[in-house]
Amino acid sequence: MARKKTPLNYTGKDLEHYNALMETYNQVSSNMRLRAGEVLDRSSADKRGVTTHMADVSSDNASHEIGLRQLSEDGDILQLIEEALERLSKGEYGKCHDCGEMISEARLKVRPYAVFCIKCKTKREEMGY
Ligand SMILES: [Zn+2]
Repeated sequence: MARKKTPLNYTGKDLEHYNALMETYNQVSSNMRLRAGEVLDRSSADKRGVTTHMADVSSDNASHEIGLRQLSEDGDILQLIEEALERLSKGEYGKCHDCGEMISEARLKVRPYAVFCIKCKTKREEMGY
């Protein structure tokens, strides 16, 4: 098995990408911890909840749903970041998964874990992925 590059081995662009990925990872995981706390709070409140005010209950459920969905989206992002770190360690970071072109630095800055270049991403969205 190939030895993984440690952060110390990264230089130049690689190091920038590594730092951007780690920063996003930390951000997303601390967001997740906060949100998980909120969702759990709300779940236990639901169990104690009295269902006399139907309107309140449904809006509560809706925000609970959103909380859960955001949590799973954040989980997906963490997964993508781990995969991006893996690609970085193999020297394949920043290549579009579809067309193999390099993803633009501008896009990587916004979304360091991007898998597709903007062209392929747009194409996929148009096709309803
Ligand atoms: Zn592409």
